Amino acid sequence: MALVAEIIGVGTELLLGNTVNTNARDISEGLSALGINVYFHTVVGDNPSRLRLAVEIAKRRADIIITTGGLGPTYDDLTKQTLAECFGKKLVFNEEEAECIRSYFEKSLHTTKFTENNMQQAMLPEGCTIFHNEWGTAPGCAFRGDGKHVIMLPGPPRECNAMFNNCAVPYLKALSETEILSHSIRIFGMGESAVEDRLRDLMTELKNPTLAPYAKEGEVMLRVTAMADTAEQCEALMAPVIEKVREALGDIIYAIDEDSLESVVLRILREKNLTVAAAESCTGGLLQKRLTDIPGASKCFKGGAVTYSDNAKTLMADVPAELLEKEGAVSAAAAKALAEGIRLRLGTEFGLGITGVAGPDRDERGNEVGTVFVALSAIDGAYCRSLHLGADRGRIRTSAVNNALDMLRRYLTGLKI
Ligand code: ATP
Ligand code: MG
Repeated sequence: MALVAEIIGVGTELLLGNTVNTNARDISEGLSALGINVYFHTVVGDNPSRLRLAVEIAKRRADIIITTGGLGPTYDDLTKQTLAECFGKKLVFNEEEAECIRSYFEKSLHTTKFTENNMQQAMLPEGCTIFHNEWGTAPGCAFRGDGKHVIMLPGPPRECNAMFNNCAVPYLKALSETEILSHSIRIFGMGESAVEDRLRDLMTELKNPTLAPYAKEGEVMLRVTAMADTAEQCEALMAPVIEKVREALGDIIYAIDEDSLESVVLRILREKNLTVAAAESCTGGLLQKRLTDIPGASKCFKGGAVTYSDNAKTLMADVPAELLEKEGAVSAAAAKALAEGIRLRLGTEFGLGITGVAGPDRDERGNEVGTVFVALSAIDGAYCRSLHLGADRGRIRTSAVNNALDMLRRYLTGLKI
């Protein structure tokens, strides 16, 4: 039987809407990769009696309770005291953790002037497994009480994620004898409902491994998760399922276990020792931002331009003024000219050009919002996708960039564009 976890986010700022509960999202993703079910996310303010109530409810419906936030040194950080009370544990002073906190102040913050309340953080439930915090000061911890597993992680997302992955995941893995492995199949070019439709039978009939879809921004991810005694057995269970998904979806699968279209494109460019440049109009540099988010992008991405006006298109990407006059800036011809112009300017093997109407209004030539042309220029010619991407400005821009990256990925892997 799969274990059930509940995540309790502690913090009044979460209730006020000042902070988005990204910790719950990140932990949930990690738990599902471990094959642990999450049925409830709870959020509660920095208030001991309401936190106590939330814990009592969670105890009734989960095997594992994970809290985030409220481990710090300030008066409103009450998670540890409250959880210890709920499970009848005493808090005891841990000299080792106190020393770590002292040295963190000296080394990272270059000060010894920490206040005594920082030592509050070295008070931990008796008998707990300490999760040492290498990314901040407040240690996390895990303990067993009333037949449940309790895990407490700090609130700041950077610390929470690092401690979840480095401390809580190994702890949770050790809870069960079985090995749980998963692979994510990344898909671009088909909506979530269409993917589900093609795979519905497979998804419902599978028990181990399981196959579940997740909609990501403008794309779809499928996660295959297997449970077995050994990692090899997990892989053996998953391989035929991945094969079946490949048969059903074909080359719209752009990666398995790789992060994003941009990381796939950059990897292939690097392997082939090729380079790319970009000229963007309606995406305002988003494509270049996403490429340069990836460390090491400079080997393959040479630069580009944000050509938001006709003049900029001509000045920075050599798009002929007559072409813009005749065809309009939102046209296949303009997109191709942007891609080719920037490729020649920067001497790269590939150029990507994006032009379109991101809204909220039609352009002066009457092109509808969501009309986008995305072009790829290569040495053997130019390719263009003519797209209608709906009316939401953010989605139009994300999807335009995804399409540009997908065109290049398909070209690089010898697929039809
Ligand atoms: P600190 O030592 O910084 O006080 P803490 O464990 O006490 O850590 P909080 O004080 O609750 O954590 O939160 C610290 C920061 O983390 C705040 O900026 C808060 O907005 C952010 N934060 C807290 N909980 C979450 C959450 N669930 N998702 C995203 N951010 C969060
Ligand atoms: Mg705090």
